[in-house]
Amino acid sequence: MTCNETKNLLNAYVDGELDSAGSLSVEGHVQRCTSCLTEMENLRGLASAIENGGLRFTAPPGLKRNIQAAIRAANPEVQHSFFDWRWASALTAAVLVVVVGFLLTTQSQRSSEEALLVDDIVSSHVRSMMANHITDVASSDSHTVKPWFGGKLDYSPPAKDLTAQGFRLVGGRLDYFENRPVAAVVYQRSQHFINLFVWPATNTAIKPEDQLTRQGYNILHWTQSGMTYWLVSELNLAELSECARLLKE
Ligand SMILES: [Zn+2]
Repeated sequence: MTCNETKNLLNAYVDGELDSAGSLSVEGHVQRCTSCLTEMENLRGLASAIENGGLRFTAPPGLKRNIQAAIRAANPEVQHSFFDWRWASALTAAVLVVVVGFLLTTQSQRSSEEALLVDDIVSSHVRSMMANHITDVASSDSHTVKPWFGGKLDYSPPAKDLTAQGFRLVGGRLDYFENRPVAAVVYQRSQHFINLFVWPATNTAIKPEDQLTRQGYNILHWTQSGMTYWLVSELNLAELSECARLLKE
């Protein structure tokens, strides 16, 4: 191996990048050649000086501050808008947490209140049949049933006669829900009784019909013209829905 060939490989040799054949050739040459050996030792000294950090310097503490101040002076918008953005997103997140928490709380409160009411409605329906006290006023004439409620409630419930449509008006009864007397209008379809509970809605927004089943009873619930309606019966859902449709007309 000539001196030129060796010198071309010295950098790679010092950095440990040569294969074993290349390394052996370089080592064989520098054992015989003082000039190449000296150059190899110089390269090793340089490499270890770089490795030991002798060429690294720590910036003086004021430099970072000065650079940041210079950036701010050159472009005051940068930091300003950065902080605005951060506060805005933090505020948005906080508002979101509060709103979602509020919605979840009121939603679960509302649904648990409604679940209790549904239980009351089913119990009332069952009780009215078990106690053989389905009506306080027994009449299939809406002109008898409707005025009967007049003296007992501060609102006038509908008492539609649906006899021609297959739902015979049986009469009316007073019941109690949500700490107030409410109207129960009673219908009959074949051997099945249907209780229609009606009272003024607290939320008068029109509510589409809910369908529920509790303890084998079908329940339909809707809000219309400021009144809340609960229809409950052991009658099948299709026929009960037909009854609801006729009542809504
Ligand atoms: Zn040489």
